[in-house]
Amino acid sequence: MEPSTFVPMTTASRNLHPRPFASWGMGFDRPLLIAGPCSAESEAQVLAAARGIAEQGRTPVFRAGLWKPRTRPGSFEGAGAAALPWLQRVQAETGLRVMTEVATAEHVEACLKAGVDLLWIGARTTPNPFSVQEIADALRGVDIPVLVKNPINPDLQLWIGALERLENVGLTRLAAVHRGFSWFERTPYRNSPMWEFPIRLKAAFPELEVLCDPSHIAGDRAKLGAVAQQALDLGLSGLMLEVHPDPDRACSDPYQQVTPEAYAALIDSLIFRQALPTAPMRDRLEELRDLIDQLDEEIAQKLGTRMDIAERIGDHKREHQVAILQPERWERIMGRQLRLAQHLGLSEAFVKELMDAIHRESIRRQTAAQEEVVPPSGSPASWGNGMAE
Ligand code: PEP
Ligand code: MN
Repeated sequence: MEPSTFVPMTTASRNLHPRPFASWGMGFDRPLLIAGPCSAESEAQVLAAARGIAEQGRTPVFRAGLWKPRTRPGSFEGAGAAALPWLQRVQAETGLRVMTEVATAEHVEACLKAGVDLLWIGARTTPNPFSVQEIADALRGVDIPVLVKNPINPDLQLWIGALERLENVGLTRLAAVHRGFSWFERTPYRNSPMWEFPIRLKAAFPELEVLCDPSHIAGDRAKLGAVAQQALDLGLSGLMLEVHPDPDRACSDPYQQVTPEAYAALIDSLIFRQALPTAPMRDRLEELRDLIDQLDEEIAQKLGTRMDIAERIGDHKREHQVAILQPERWERIMGRQLRLAQHLGLSEAFVKELMDAIHRESIRRQTAAQEEVVPPSGSPASWGNGMAE
């Protein structure tokens, strides 16, 4: 395991006493559905999305980003406070509760003044304790529901810490939103779901409502259904989905947004299992099996990435006419893995066998790639079946 992903198992904290939806006094039930555009772009766009969502009939909360945290400057940064009256129109015309993202005390104050019903803290704000504390301080004495998205980096303690800061100022209606994690390796999704994080959060705080945001995990509307279904199968508390009247022309996140009609069809296609509002959500055995399945999937993905890289190294060596056979490199890899194995309590025999199997597959991949190319003149007749990397 990479040191950066290591999270200690003991996450329980006396500072967090989450309350389930049933006690929020808002008529929310599991699974709670939240939908709306990534960004509020215009009054017409906001109202068209809200009307479509209201028509769907099962979604009590409308979301829209007013202040958009963009990775690079120059992108659309949201309509800001000018969009607050649009949310008020949504409340008045559709009866939906409205929700937006806050990142500063100024955002909080504007939302409270405008009567926004719920707030969320975005994935780029959660990891910054100064920002979360600033938001918490601006909310002292106001018991508005706040949903906290996971930090973009896989760190459970930061996620819990943000919830604790909010509880410390007296907020009682708190929930978490799992939106996946930025990850340096190729994954099938925009943000790697790493399901073990919401599972562990839920295991540490069984009463905490943990929702899923399939839109930001998937990054692609074709993959929303699979992510949403997995979230429901894991017993998560609800879904937040991005819905836009004209997704392809959205000013932010166009590929992952769906029309209100497609949203309704997506929700209809999901299998909702029996909700158990108070009992710990799942049998422990099933929870652990889900964790194992997720880890197996990640192992397979990492092996795929490793083989791709080994193949690239093979190409590079061929191009520069460097011999593939470099036994000292393999000795270094094996030595490091064996030290790590000892540290993690894995047997030497197991790790040796595993690494040998991985090595054999790397060689097979490099050899297969080599057979596809005509060796340049003067190159060795054989690149050898020895060292792959
Ligand atoms: C969003 O919900 O539009 C958003 C910006 O999400 P995140 O903070 O999860 O990236
Ligand atoms: Mn978005």
